[in-house]
Amino acid sequence: MKAAVYLGGPKNIKIQEVPDPVLLDGEILVKVGAGNICGVDSRTYNHGDKKIEPPRILGHEFAGTVVEVANGDTDIKEGDRITSYVVLPCGTCVYCKRGRANLCDTRTTISYHYDGAFAQYMVLPKGTVDNRHVFRIPEHVSFEEAALSEPLATVLNAQGKLNIGIKDTVVVLGAGPIGILHSLVSKIEGATHVCLMDVSPGRLKLAEQFDLDRYVQVKEDGSHIEQAKALNDGLVPDVVIVANTAATSQGDALEMAGKGARVEFFGGLPKSNPYATLNTNLIHYREIIVSGSFSSRIEDFRNALKVVSSGLLPVKQLITHRFPLDAMLKAFEVIPAGEAIKVSIQPN
Ligand SMILES: [Zn+2]
Ligand SMILES: [Zn+2]
Repeated sequence: MKAAVYLGGPKNIKIQEVPDPVLLDGEILVKVGAGNICGVDSRTYNHGDKKIEPPRILGHEFAGTVVEVANGDTDIKEGDRITSYVVLPCGTCVYCKRGRANLCDTRTTISYHYDGAFAQYMVLPKGTVDNRHVFRIPEHVSFEEAALSEPLATVLNAQGKLNIGIKDTVVVLGAGPIGILHSLVSKIEGATHVCLMDVSPGRLKLAEQFDLDRYVQVKEDGSHIEQAKALNDGLVPDVVIVANTAATSQGDALEMAGKGARVEFFGGLPKSNPYATLNTNLIHYREIIVSGSFSSRIEDFRNALKVVSSGLLPVKQLITHRFPLDAMLKAFEVIPAGEAIKVSIQPN
């Protein structure tokens, strides 16, 4: 079969023929319908990732059709249209027992430890099947839409801590797919005012189709902080979500947050320099609650697929580009240029 194989280091993904997967007991073979590109995939393409042992097929936001089920203890059958949760938790550690599989110390994941979706076929590991982490997709939901359940699940994991509701003014820093999802979910939850900020005017322009309340460009002179403070009749933001990987945004978030606000550091900083300069007195005097979020729990994934299927979110609009597997490397050029929101690879 054809696959996009990460061979280690920067700019080293090659489209090549690889042997067809052979199933072991308990595994499921899936013909990939869509594998959407995540920010993590772009980062791995551009900079490499030492945590991934090459050769490895990336792609953890996916959906497809079951081709074969190998003696699995599952009700999933050949022909089912499915998507799956990508984390394989150990199931026995203290975090797993508390339902926090995303925080499991020895978790493995599809596309890091198992081959992912940027191929014609992929194998769902026995652990995923045994844990009932494979979900059928309703008939009216396309593969590319169903594949959005993964990033949406990570957003729901964070939103669960923020308790957004009526009267809340929300600022989201970062107008990528995650920032847009955070903005849209905040609206569904009842936020009266959602303001999306980004350094790129192009990304803000693309996001205008989602009819948020305000779009503000992040500038070095800090004028975006003043603009945030002027929102909500001067009551300043109740919630600020950092959906990018810039340390300065974390500092900005605290500066613009109102008294008693909730601030979420959603995006991790680069591992080479994970330090930010923060005025922690703001946390103290303004009684700001700061949270962080990583990955998603199984219930977030289940809820995300429900939301995607419900039509509550304009999921179709989020996918701006589609490429066949052969042209996948072109996709990595479109993303940094700020021309795309979500790019979907459709290998078959
Ligand atoms: Zn992702
Ligand atoms: Zn565990």
